[in-house]
Amino acid sequence: MIIIMKNEATRVQIDAILGRIAELGLKPLCMPGTEKVVLGALGDERVLAGLRLENHPQVERVIPILSPYKLASRELYPSETVIQVGTHQIGTPRFTVIAGPCAVESEAQLMAAARHISAGGAVFLRGGAFKPRSSPYSFQGMGEEGLRLLAKARETYGTAVVTEVLSTEEVALVAGYADVLQVGARNMQNFRLLREVGRSGRPVLLKRGMSASISELLMSAEYILSEGNPDVILCERGIKTFETAYRNTLDLTALPILKQKTHLPVIVDPSHAAGHRDYIIPLAKAALACGADGVIVEVHPDPAAALSDGQQSLDLPMFDEMMRQLRRLAKVEGRIL
Ligand code: PEP
Ligand code: MN
Repeated sequence: MIIIMKNEATRVQIDAILGRIAELGLKPLCMPGTEKVVLGALGDERVLAGLRLENHPQVERVIPILSPYKLASRELYPSETVIQVGTHQIGTPRFTVIAGPCAVESEAQLMAAARHISAGGAVFLRGGAFKPRSSPYSFQGMGEEGLRLLAKARETYGTAVVTEVLSTEEVALVAGYADVLQVGARNMQNFRLLREVGRSGRPVLLKRGMSASISELLMSAEYILSEGNPDVILCERGIKTFETAYRNTLDLTALPILKQKTHLPVIVDPSHAAGHRDYIIPLAKAALACGADGVIVEVHPDPAAALSDGQQSLDLPMFDEMMRQLRRLAKVEGRIL
């Protein structure tokens, strides 16, 4: 629930209420505003009912948070969350482009991709070192060596690193190299992993599961937020439908809905939705037009030789073309790129 304090409430009185919330085993939150202090109490509904703050002399109003996800909801935090990653911000009028190969394959491949995308205006480099593959016989990623190469690319080109973490045991290792931890579609409801990345101290890029509803995505974000990590970026990457003409159906309707329900930044992955490079540019533009905070796109210097997702990877000239078209559209949409 949200507890709005009266203007005259003193720090001592506020602390006393926060203490009472904690004593009952609930999670206390304090959100000082310019005029009023707003408190939050999260936890078991029955215990919340026992707080009885409605008639407290220093409390102006008590509002229940109706949505099942509390910290992710706009009811609790009405204004946009801006996530700071090094010198970059996600969740502002500036449109964020995250680009790079599906998987880190070699130093030459990663550096060629990083050099090109950073020169073209992408400030984040993506690349999987640990890959979740549908087949156990497919390339599984370079592991820690891949992480080292990502760190080297960051040093050389100044690009922040976004890379996937597959399991709880690898969170500390990946967090040691990455700027943003990616939780993939297949792990969106791996609740122990969500809790672990929630304790990692790194921003998290949470991808929507391929069969997950919007509210399940937000509940998964809530797991991360509830561990004390406020930096969650949501990612729509296409869901499974009956359509077979492409890989997944990019659910663009999810964008305005997510923007209405949550204060968290939302980006779009047109690559895993389309499954083919020919459709990436129009989908990336659609994402911008629908209010996305950015896109994450697969780019490979030689897609034909890629060890994973080559078909959906943009080559370098196509990446330039995407940036050109996004820049043109950004102007119309009042965005910066
Ligand atoms: C990826 O980003 O390479 C990836 C595996 O994505 P997803 O989890 O969306 O399938
Ligand atoms: Mn991929």
